[in-house]
Order: sequence, then C-alpha cells, then structure tokens
Amino acid sequence: MAEISLFENALKQFNKAADVMNLSNSMRQVLTSTKRELTVNFPVRMDDGEIKVFTGHRVQHNVARGPAKGGIRYHQNVTLDEVKALAFWMTWKCAVVGIPYGGGKGGVCVNPQELSMGELERLSRRFFSEIQIIIGENEDIPAPDVNTNAQIMSWYMDTYSMNVGHSVLGIVTGKPLEIGGSKGRSEATGRGVRVIAEEAAKYKGMDPKSATVAVQGFGNVGSFAAKLISEEIGSKVVALSDVSGGLYNPAGFDIDEVIAYRDQNKGVIEGYPKGQKISNNDLLALDVDILVPAALENAITANNAGDIKAKIIVEGANGPITPEADEIILSKNIFIVPDFLANAGGVTVSYFEWVQGLQHYFWDIEDVRRALHKIMKEAFNSVASTANKYNIDMRSAAYVDAIEKVALATKLRGIYP
Ligand code: GLU
Repeated sequence: MAEISLFENALKQFNKAADVMNLSNSMRQVLTSTKRELTVNFPVRMDDGEIKVFTGHRVQHNVARGPAKGGIRYHQNVTLDEVKALAFWMTWKCAVVGIPYGGGKGGVCVNPQELSMGELERLSRRFFSEIQIIIGENEDIPAPDVNTNAQIMSWYMDTYSMNVGHSVLGIVTGKPLEIGGSKGRSEATGRGVRVIAEEAAKYKGMDPKSATVAVQGFGNVGSFAAKLISEEIGSKVVALSDVSGGLYNPAGFDIDEVIAYRDQNKGVIEGYPKGQKISNNDLLALDVDILVPAALENAITANNAGDIKAKIIVEGANGPITPEADEIILSKNIFIVPDFLANAGGVTVSYFEWVQGLQHYFWDIEDVRRALHKIMKEAFNSVASTANKYNIDMRSAAYVDAIEKVALATKLRGIYP
C-alpha cells in the first residue's frame, strides 16, 4: 500500500472548504504553502560514549495573523511531511479560536523511551539550539506535543536563555509553573475536548450526562479528556486505550484510579484490573454516544471507518481520520468535530501562558478555565452556524471560518514589496 501523505490529506480537506468559499487560486497558493521548512541533522553523545546523529524539523506554515505557534513531538515515525501537515493545522487551529498566532510545528525522529534522562536532555538542548535560527518569542513559539512535556520545555527555555544571555519566558509554552508556566496548561487540551464534547452532545439533542464515551489514547490529551468528561459532565467513560491495547467496562471507569495505575505501571494501562481487555480497533467500533480519538493520526482509515457506530466523534488527536474515512463516516450521519477545533484548548492556554510571561503577571486557575471555556464554546457555536449556513460538515465549516480570517489578514497586510 502506498504511504499516506498527511500533508496531501490536509490539502484535500482545505480544498473541499476552499471550493465552498470559491477561494481564488492565488489565495489558495498563498495559504497552502509553508513559509519555512528547516531540517536539522545533529549529533548527540550517548551514555556509552558513542555519537548518534538524529534528524529533526521545524516548519512555519503561515504567520499572517501572528508568530508561528505549535508543539514539538518526539516519535520514531516523525517525517517532514507529517510536521508540515501539523504546522498547517496549527494555522487553522489558532485562527478558528481567534488567538493571534500563525502555525508552526516541530518534530524529532526518535523513540524517547530508548533514551536515558541524560540523553534526552542532551538531545533536547542540541535540537533547540539547532532551530534557534528561526524561533523567537515574537517569531515562533514551540510547546509540548506527543512525547514531550514540561521538563523538556524547561530545558528548551534554559538553552535559549543561556544562548542569548538572559531568561526569556516567552520562547516556549507548556513550562512548569515555577519558571513561568500557566496554571491549567497541562489539562488544557483535555479540558477543551471536554467543553466541545458537552457542546456537541447538546447540539445533537443528547443529554451529555447520560452519554457513553470511548477514548482512544491515554496520553496528555486522552487522560485529561476522559477525567474531565466523567468528573465534570458526568458522562460514563466505558472504554480507554493506549499503545498497550484497550479496556472496556460498561459500568464506567474511575479515571483518577486508571491514571494512578498508569503512573505506577511504566506509563501504560495494560493490566488494570477493572476492565475487560479489548483491541484499539474494538474500541473504535464500540456502540457509544461519543468517541474521542486522542492518539495519533490516521487511526480511522477507509478500512475501519465502516465499523464506527458512535453518534459523535470529537477529534482529540491531530488528523485521526483520513479524508476517505471522513466521507464514509459522514455518509452514516455521524457528527465529527474536527481536530483543529476540538483540540485547540492546548494552544489557547499556551497563548494565555505567553501573554502572562510577557507581562510577568500570572492568573488564577479560575481565570484560565473561564477564559478557555468561553473561547472553546464560542468557536464551536461559530463553526456550527457556518456549517448550517452552507449546509456543510463541521470540518469544512471550521476551515471556512479559519480560512476567512487568515485570508482577510493576508489581504489587509498586502503582499510585500
Ligand atoms: N501541541 C499542541 C497542539 O497540537 C499545542 C501547541 C501549542 O500549545 O503551541 O495544538
């Protein structure tokens, strides 16, 4: 089977919306081109004295509405094509929720599980130094993504600060609270997914409290989404999964207990006693009200899309559904809230963190949560009304809303020179 290009898939989604809007060819060209793509190959000294060379990328897709913004992921399958697609989605993500950023993304091709703490630190510091030529607190602000966390953000911030000679809080978000992080940042993507799940259920005439939910992926996004959906909305989370496989419990999981088990069990939920073992594919095919794919891209393809029985899909991950699968799912009248709307909570609180760092003035958790809730709810309602206005699906509607904003910014600024 030919490799699926994530960037090509993202362009298909874009063009579907651009057709609805009758977007000109020139604007399509401008908005689909990445502004900068930097690939770096860099050496890292391993604990055994050997030198290994790693490859990483930082892509800035568009900066018409503000500096590039987006996470850096560590994964053995990272490619430039993937990072381009993820940077592209960041542009639309920031635009759809109305925060003043463009889109960027980074990735290093590495399995961090195979590194010691020292190796991870040396790799992180060297990679950040390598991409320093294009980043900056007013140019491009990285953040956590798959397999990166607050500790890695601390090393990034320190590396940049050492290189320029003074502490720069605004260079990266997702930092620990002690060095300029924001309250509520680590839960933010999950909390945004929780707001969207509730809004989507209400919009579809469902009682969110009595909804059943399956969550694929138990990393930062999936675990917080599952926890907040069950604790705050009161829905029953009946299925969970991660790289080790899935668990099903029709009575619903106590998510705090599963998180505690995972943290004691090498980071995986495998072996948690209060659930029946199922596969990731079984989880995706469960007859639940809400399905939250919160793992990696391409989880739902033309091969398994026909099996989906959920009534609503809230995309916690970036790109979990291929365009072919999208068509199959939409033809079954399943309501999909697209990734760059559903998972925008993370970058929204990153924006709050950046603003707090620039002002050296830090907010209470209640202020962060209230502001996040308002932004997510308003973005959902705006996209839903665009979907109604043009009689299109929510993904296309989210693109229409986002493209309108970036196209307008591009027109207002004009083309230099
Ligand atoms: N990596 C997250 C995302 O995909 C957050 C990016 C950020 O906070 O800049 O949206």
